[in-house]
Amino acid sequence: MGKKKKSERKGKKQHKKTVRKKKSDYYEIKGNSVERKKQQCPKCGPGVFMAEHKDRLVCGKCSYTKWK
Ligand SMILES: [Zn+2]
Repeated sequence: MGKKKKSERKGKKQHKKTVRKKKSDYYEIKGNSVERKKQQCPKCGPGVFMAEHKDRLVCGKCSYTKWK
């Protein structure tokens, strides 16, 4: 019989600060035109941006994932 290991972790969770981005961060104004820097969710439509990950884009609203 082996020893049972307690795998309880208490107080080890680190809270990540969520940085709210300004809407202007998603756009880049070039002269008279505005360029979108972020991809928008095809499901939620304009206004809902995809969060960029290393190899994929994920919608924060409907969690639609688009692999790169
Ligand atoms: Zn979406």
